[in-house]
Amino acid sequence: MKNLVFKRETGWKILSRDELERFSRGYMDFIGKCKTERQVVSFVEDVLRRNGFSSIEEYDGSVPAKIYMKFRAKAIIAVKLSESLIRGINLVAAHIDSPRIDLKPHPIFEDEGIALAKTHYYGGVKKYQWFNIPLSIVGVVVKEDGSVVDINIGEKEEDPVFVISDLLPHLDRKDAKVSEKFQAEKMNLILGSMPLDDEEKEAVKLNILKILNDLYGIKEEDLVSADLALVPSFPPREVGLDRSFIAAYGHDDRVCAYTSMMALIDSKDGKNMGIILFDKEEIGSDGNTGAKSRFYLMFFRKILKKQGYEDVEYYLDEVLEKSYVISADVNAAVNPSYKDVHDLNNAARAGYGIVLTKYTGARGKAGASEARAELVAKVRSALNSRGILWQVGTLGKVDVGGGGTVAKFLAEKGAEVIDMGPGLIGMHSPYELVSKVDLYESYRAYKALLEEL
Ligand code: MN
Ligand code: MN
Repeated sequence: MKNLVFKRETGWKILSRDELERFSRGYMDFIGKCKTERQVVSFVEDVLRRNGFSSIEEYDGSVPAKIYMKFRAKAIIAVKLSESLIRGINLVAAHIDSPRIDLKPHPIFEDEGIALAKTHYYGGVKKYQWFNIPLSIVGVVVKEDGSVVDINIGEKEEDPVFVISDLLPHLDRKDAKVSEKFQAEKMNLILGSMPLDDEEKEAVKLNILKILNDLYGIKEEDLVSADLALVPSFPPREVGLDRSFIAAYGHDDRVCAYTSMMALIDSKDGKNMGIILFDKEEIGSDGNTGAKSRFYLMFFRKILKKQGYEDVEYYLDEVLEKSYVISADVNAAVNPSYKDVHDLNNAARAGYGIVLTKYTGARGKAGASEARAELVAKVRSALNSRGILWQVGTLGKVDVGGGGTVAKFLAEKGAEVIDMGPGLIGMHSPYELVSKVDLYESYRAYKALLEEL
C-alpha cells in the first residue's frame, strides 16, 4: 500500500556526489563571471560557437542545423533542428536579468567632502540588503561617436569596490518601518573623498571625473548614455560544513540559463529543440528584449522563410501550436526560519530536485499561466522514466504569495507551457542559495524534456 502515497526524497541519498560536484564547478565558473545580461549573452554565444552553432544570417535552410540569434546584446535564442521547424519545437525559456541597483543617468554629486552616485533599483529588492556590502560597477558607456566602452570595476581581486552605507546603530535607535529606514533616494554609492589639487568647488567630484577620464576616456555627459549596474562583488562560494549549497549573486534566473544551455549542448539529436534567454523579466518582461517582445518570433519566421515556407505568418502559428515550452525560472525553497509563509504540502524543499509549478499568479490565480493536466502528466512521465528528482511547488500560501514569469507570454502565443526550475533560499537577495542537487536535477530535467516532449 505504501506506493499509493506521493513521497519525495532528498537527492543527497540518491545521486552520485562526483557528478554533482563536477557540474557545480562549471556552474560556479559561469555565475562568477556573468553578473549582467550582456555578460551572459557573450558567455552563451561563445559556448554556442564552440559547439558548432552559427548565426541566423549564416543559415541556409537545411537540416540538421544549429542556429542562434543575439538580440540587442541583451537576449539570445538558440535552436538545434533535426527536421523542418513546421513539426514544432521543444523550448526552455529562462531570463538572464537579475535584481540589481542601476546608476541614474546623471549620477555623480559631492556632499560634505565625499563624492557619491545616485542610484535606481531594478526589480524586486529588499533595499536594506544592498547596504554595506561590496559592489562592483559593471556595464557599458557609449560615447557620442558610437564607440562602446566596457566598464568593470570591483570584479578583480585587486580592484577597489563600492559601498552604499547607512547609519550606525547609535544614531538609529528610532523603531521605524524598514520602508522608512531604507529609502531609495538614500541609496547613494560612495565613490571617493580625495580632492583634485588647486580646485576649490567640488574638488572631490572633479577628481573622480578625472580618474574616470584617465581610465576610460569618458566625461560626465557620457554617463547619460550608459547601462551601468551595481552588482555584488563577492564571488560564488560553497556554503555549509557539508558544502551542499552554492551561494552567488544572480541564481535567479541565470541558474536556469546555464542549466538549459548545457542541456541543449549535451542533448542528443532527434527532435527540434532550443532555448530562449530573455531580458527584463524582473520588471514585467516589458521592452524589446523581454518575453513580451517579438524577437524570438522574428527568429522563427526567418527560419521558416529559409526553409521555403511562403506564408510564414500562418506557419508560425502552426509551429507555436505544436510546441512545448518549459518556462524555466526559480521557485522559493522553504527556509525553516520562515516556513509560516508556505503551505508545506505544496512547497519546495532544497535538495529535493527540480520544482514543477503547475500554475503561477496571485489570489484567485490572477495573471496565471496554468499547465494543462495532460502536459503535467507528460512531463511527469518523462522525468520519472529517467529517475530525475522533482517535486511540486507553489509560491507561498494562497492570498499571501504569488508571482509570475515568462510562462504566460509564451502561452499567449499558443504553445503548451509549464513552469519548472530549482528552488532558492534567499531569492532576490545579493547572495542567493541553491542546492547542488537542485542545480544538477534542473539540468537533467531540461535535457530530458528537450529530448522527449
Ligand atoms: Mn526569475
Ligand atoms: Mn526574480
